[in-house]
Amino acid sequence: MAGLRIGTAGVPASTKPQTTPDGIVRLAELGLEHMEIEFVRGVRMGERTARAVRKLAEEQRVSLTVHAPYYINLNSKEPEKVEASKQRIIQAAKIGAAAGARSVTFHAAFYHDDDPEVVYERVKQNMEEMLEELERAGVDIRLSPETTGGPTQFGTLEELIRLGQDLPGVYPCVDFAHLYARSLGEFNSYQHFAGALEQIRDSLGPEALQAMHMHLSGIEYGPRGEKRHVPLEETELNYRAVLQALVDYEVAGWLTCESPILEDDALILKGLYDELHHR
Ligand SMILES: [Zn+2]
Repeated sequence: MAGLRIGTAGVPASTKPQTTPDGIVRLAELGLEHMEIEFVRGVRMGERTARAVRKLAEEQRVSLTVHAPYYINLNSKEPEKVEASKQRIIQAAKIGAAAGARSVTFHAAFYHDDDPEVVYERVKQNMEEMLEELERAGVDIRLSPETTGGPTQFGTLEELIRLGQDLPGVYPCVDFAHLYARSLGEFNSYQHFAGALEQIRDSLGPEALQAMHMHLSGIEYGPRGEKRHVPLEETELNYRAVLQALVDYEVAGWLTCESPILEDDALILKGLYDELHHR
C-alpha cells in the first residue's frame, strides 16, 4: 500500500444512510483509504460517537483528518469572534483526536485592510495559545492551517510554511486547487507543484513530506480567486502533474478530494496515482 491515502471530504455520496460510520464502511468498500470529517458547519459529533468512529475506522483501515468550521477568523476586529474561532478549532481538534484523526485543517483568517505582516503575527499568537490549550488538555492532533483560494484570505504557502517554522508541530494543509485558483491559474505546472514540495521539505524538514495533509479537486476561479469546486473533468487544473510530483517526491499522508462528485473523483485520483506510482 502506498504511503499516500486518498479519500473523500466527508461521507461518500453513495452512502446510505449518510452517517460518518456508514461513510467509513462505504469508503473501504470502494477501495478508498481516507476520510476528512467535515465539521465545516459546526462540530456536530460527541465524544462517544467519536470513539466509536475511531474503532470502526481502525477496523476498516480508513485514516481520518478533520476540517474545522468555515466560520473562523483569527483576525477579526471583535475579540469575542477571535475567541469563538479558537474555541471552534479546539472543539474540532478534541473530537477529531477522539476519533483518531491525525490532523485538523481550517482557513485561519481574513486580511481585511491590515498589513499581512500584522495579520501573520495575530494568527501566530492565536495559534500559539491554541497549541498550549490543546497540550494542557492532552489532545494529540496536528493543527494544519490551509492554503486558501483567494487574495482576501490569509494563507499563502509562504505564510503557512513560516508558521510551521515558528510553531513546531504545525504544518500547512496544502490545497493544490486553492494555490491554482489564488494564482489565477498560473500555479499549474509540474515545476510549480514540485517547487512547492521542495519549499516545504527545505523549510520544515523531510518529515514534512512524510505526513502531508492535502486537498485536491477541480476548481473554477474568477478575478478574485476561488469560485467553486468542480468535477475533475471540468477543471483546467493539471491534477495529473500534481499526482506525478507526489509520486516523485515520495509524499505520504492524506489527500482529500473535495469534488462535488466526491468518490467518483477520489477514485479517479486514486487510479491515476496508483498507475503513476507503479510505473
Ligand atoms: Zn478548506
